[in-house]
Amino acid sequence: MPTDTSQYSNMLAELRAHFNGGLTRPLGWRREQLAALSRLLEENEGRLNEALAEDLGKPPQEVLLGETALLFSEIDHARRHLKSWTKRRRVRTPMVGKPGRSWVQPEPYGVVLIIGAWNYPVQLLLSPLIPALAAGNCAVLKPSEIAAATSRLLAELIPKYLDERAVRVVEGAVEETTELLKQHFDHIFYTGGAAVGRIIMRAAAEHLTPVTLELGGKSPCVIDAGADIESAARRLTWGKCLNAGQTCIAPDYVLVTPSERDKLIGAIEHELFEMYGSNRLESSDYCKIINRRHFDRLRNLLDSGRVVIGGKVDEENCRIEPTVMTEVAPDSAVMQEEIFGPILPILEVENLDEAIAFIRQRDKPLSSYLFTRSGESEQRFAELVSTGNLCINDTLMFMSVPDLPFGGVGMSGMGQYHGKAGFDRLSHLKAVMKRGRFPEIPVRFPPYSRFKMRLLKWFS
Ligand code: NAD
Repeated sequence: MPTDTSQYSNMLAELRAHFNGGLTRPLGWRREQLAALSRLLEENEGRLNEALAEDLGKPPQEVLLGETALLFSEIDHARRHLKSWTKRRRVRTPMVGKPGRSWVQPEPYGVVLIIGAWNYPVQLLLSPLIPALAAGNCAVLKPSEIAAATSRLLAELIPKYLDERAVRVVEGAVEETTELLKQHFDHIFYTGGAAVGRIIMRAAAEHLTPVTLELGGKSPCVIDAGADIESAARRLTWGKCLNAGQTCIAPDYVLVTPSERDKLIGAIEHELFEMYGSNRLESSDYCKIINRRHFDRLRNLLDSGRVVIGGKVDEENCRIEPTVMTEVAPDSAVMQEEIFGPILPILEVENLDEAIAFIRQRDKPLSSYLFTRSGESEQRFAELVSTGNLCINDTLMFMSVPDLPFGGVGMSGMGQYHGKAGFDRLSHLKAVMKRGRFPEIPVRFPPYSRFKMRLLKWFS
């Protein structure tokens, strides 16, 4: 692992030489790497749990739910489908191209840079690595320095399990990442906030490197009139409190009609008691806030409305109770940026149309949630709300479906991954046409004539 930034160019040259030498091409090599990644996770479960407990106070169940289960499922899915994903994909050749055949041939990009975020520091670093390896790329991994214990552990383990000729880890913060970004990568896969996303894209523009940006934003949760409030409250509370709300796809705020509002608040209170008891700040099932900076940022948001549930904080241990707020103005601080913590503002809307209009006036969300019993509401919402992912009658669970592409739209990101979408994202889909030699139809060749023109019109 290079610590001296001047060594990055040597590292890139080495990786590229191995890539050009064909190391990553055989499907057997790709399968072995994916199996080794699976072993890394299995054999180091205890150490991963310890690192994530140190960084985020994550209980082992949340390590499984939010980090490793998804990785195991993605690895398994990629290994099972690798052969079909890598095959030529035949497409129709029109008359004008006959005799001939055409197909799409996926090929690896080369060396991919993967920059991870701190909130799910294992999953967000390794889940882009799965399609990167499946597609036959080399990769440089840059874990988030903010989840320091996990970053250290991954930097120690990855070289022990994966082929160092093709996969390297670079630890570091802004300085190291800035240096890394000066190198010529063939794809940059970034997960994190939009401000740094812009920096990544600017740096990528220098080399005209394609980028995938997995960003965040405010993900709305709409409770339709007549929805099953008990079920909505349980699933919403779970989705908001997992990782203490530090989840890019966590429901950020709720839109509900006045008639359902108090019922919903009562049901959330009940669920919080069921999940975390009455002393939530001390529950071992509830995570801490990653660091003091984020703790202070979140504490300042507690003034944005009337706290109806929670609101207590433990400054020493960076903990904030799950907190529900009402009387929140749409222009208040908590509604300006992604909350990324356990604070849930509940805003009132007259009906579903007003909720849809509220969402459409803002940046396109990464995820949107609708709780409803009405097929008509479901259809209208799905048609009118542009969002990276939509989940009806639950939160977060769409992540468990490997065939659903994951990623944002507009300000919540660009490019999708998971399953085949990830394989395609990290492959160049090369277009190939093979012409037959006979018969040669000479209408496209000069000298041109009116007759040839008529034939050309007929062919095209
Ligand atoms: P972060 O601070 O961990 O930063 C992300 C990465 O960017 C880190 O590896 C960091 O080293 C690097 N970085 C930071 N500053 C940089 C700079 N000036 N130049 C180059 N690199 C730099 O994470 P964050 O930004 O706090 O992440 C939170 C955001 O990420 C939220 O908006 C969240 O919604 C979003 N997020 C999105 C997803 C997703 O899958 N779409 C997942 C997790 C988080």
